[in-house]
Amino acid sequence: MTVANPLADATVQAEREALTAALLQAAAHLAQGQDAEGILRPFCEALVAASRHIRLAWMWLGAPDTTIIRPAYVVGPAHEYAQALVLGADEATRSLSPGLRALANGRPVMATVRSDPTFAPWRAEALRHGLEVSVSFSFGEANDNQRGLVAIYADQADYFTRLGLNPFVAFQHLAQVALTQAALRERLNTLATLDSLTGLLNRGAMQAALEGHHAQAQCQRQAYCLLLLDIDRFKLINDGYGHVVGDNVIRDVGKVLQEMLRPEDRVGRWGGEEFLCLLPGTDCATGNRVAEDLRARIMDHTFPAGTVRTVRATVSQGLACFPTDGRNIEELLNHADMGLYEAKRDGRNRVARASDRGRSLFATAQQLEAALTSGQVRPAYQPIIALSDGHIMAKEALARIITPEGVLETEHFIEAADRFQWLHRLDHDMIGQVIEHCAAERKARRPRIAYFVNVSIDLLHHAERVQDLLDRITRTTMPCCTDTDAEKPLVIEITERQFLGDFDAVRRTLAPFLAFGIRLALDDFGSGYSSFRYLTELPFAFVKLDRGLVKRVRTAQGRRILRGLQDLAGDLGFRTIAEGVEDEDCADALAAIGIDWAQGHYFAAPRFEDTHETG
Ligand code: C2E
Ligand code: CA
Ligand code: CA
Repeated sequence: MTVANPLADATVQAEREALTAALLQAAAHLAQGQDAEGILRPFCEALVAASRHIRLAWMWLGAPDTTIIRPAYVVGPAHEYAQALVLGADEATRSLSPGLRALANGRPVMATVRSDPTFAPWRAEALRHGLEVSVSFSFGEANDNQRGLVAIYADQADYFTRLGLNPFVAFQHLAQVALTQAALRERLNTLATLDSLTGLLNRGAMQAALEGHHAQAQCQRQAYCLLLLDIDRFKLINDGYGHVVGDNVIRDVGKVLQEMLRPEDRVGRWGGEEFLCLLPGTDCATGNRVAEDLRARIMDHTFPAGTVRTVRATVSQGLACFPTDGRNIEELLNHADMGLYEAKRDGRNRVARASDRGRSLFATAQQLEAALTSGQVRPAYQPIIALSDGHIMAKEALARIITPEGVLETEHFIEAADRFQWLHRLDHDMIGQVIEHCAAERKARRPRIAYFVNVSIDLLHHAERVQDLLDRITRTTMPCCTDTDAEKPLVIEITERQFLGDFDAVRRTLAPFLAFGIRLALDDFGSGYSSFRYLTELPFAFVKLDRGLVKRVRTAQGRRILRGLQDLAGDLGFRTIAEGVEDEDCADALAAIGIDWAQGHYFAAPRFEDTHETG
């Protein structure tokens, strides 16, 4: 091993400049958002590249309480020396090591290989690699969650004393700032992936975890389950007990899930009161068992509601299994969602896998989407006649979809639209066509009749679509349909099957239509959800009596109910319309009671009407 010549003064100056330039350059990259290792590595590389006297640089990063240090990154011609280096492994190196001392006191620690006692354990090996002196810098405070150490070795014992430590110390400060920023960034990243209320993964992070796991499961042909879980009637808890209790329930449900599931399972908050659990390596039967356990545990749990009261909650869950229920994430999530919907529909506090009907609903939803996009949804019109003289007074527009495979069952695609929250699109499309049809009929001087359209609450929630329809009605229907009447031909049917909930909101949305002269009909009255309250909450001009109720006209009791309703109609000022009249006897009996209008196969089935026909 040859000892290098002492440095000449000129060389010292040149060295200092070269090192300063290299460190400056490394510093210029500090702000680029690397992690801690990305910050310290270029520092080591720059030093080794800047001077042939610097024969080795290594770095270490770790927890503040680490007692044994092994270099994590080594660079320089003498790199072999550091590769076997272990600091703090035994009593001697624990107390003596310059690196550990630098970590302990935060200042640079210089040590000459030949004379410094701290080098004793490594002296021979260091000299064999041409190392004469080292300087160690630490990064991070004792209470930071990550600390760093950089050690630099030169081949001249007086190298650092003659050059001075200033450029290194300056760099140490800069790097320290960058490391603090990196730690902060990491903390923010964690916050961005965690839901602040529950501390569980948020939706984005859960989606990412799901994607990662799905790819792996696909490769390894391994089953897994998804559980979509929703707190039943959460709105009641939230409205009844207040948001604080609501939040507590959400947080506690999250806790129960995490406690009950295995460490390798993932739980995320998927929405307001919705959670998604990913159960790796789990088949359907096991997934179902796990879901049932969760359900039972949450049902037994009492959630604190203030200091003295407690509240109970139940959950509904949709289960989807890979690969049986879907080959990709979207399909699996849709199936879990469908299962959840069925669990809720069938009474809540239960676990469900999407039924065959649910699955076919999913397929129908895809056909519906295609039909909506390509304008294949068409209205069929069913006449509504006056029972007194058989005149056609109105027509109801009913949605039809014709595909190359045949006509889709209306109830089925309406359910699919409802399920996927597309009813507003369907209604908007249908009503638009009816407005045009009505205008064309007026232009062709056909008899003036009313047009009944079915309106979902979903449509009423879409203000922009409602506004668009209102604009079209005032633009298109106005000139041809108004004549001098205040009553316009369009009648909006709202079914009592839909929970109307906030009457004020519905009233506000409908106000401009009513002001314009458009009338309202209450659909499906007597279908089981009947509430006379509806009759007084909104100004209905028509009440359509449900087929089930109409059928009861054959019984004395049914006739009494219908007669009572007819009396009420007289008092409240609405017309009655009997739905689903299928034979003459029924029509006669209804006429005898005084029911105003009727529709049904006995009079005419719904059929398409060509707007352009003149005959
Ligand atoms: P609805 O509003 O009660 O419509 C009456 C339903 O009874 C129609 O079924 C009609 O074809 C059927 N019908 C008519 N006469 C008779 C009869 O004599 N006997 C029997 N058994 N049925 C008869 P459709 O067309 O299958 O529609 C089913 C439901 O789908 C409708 O019930 C309505 O709630 C909904 N719907 C249809 N079109 C639309 C739409 O454009 N928008 C919305 N939101 N819902 C719609
Ligand atoms: Ca209707
Ligand atoms: Ca109806």
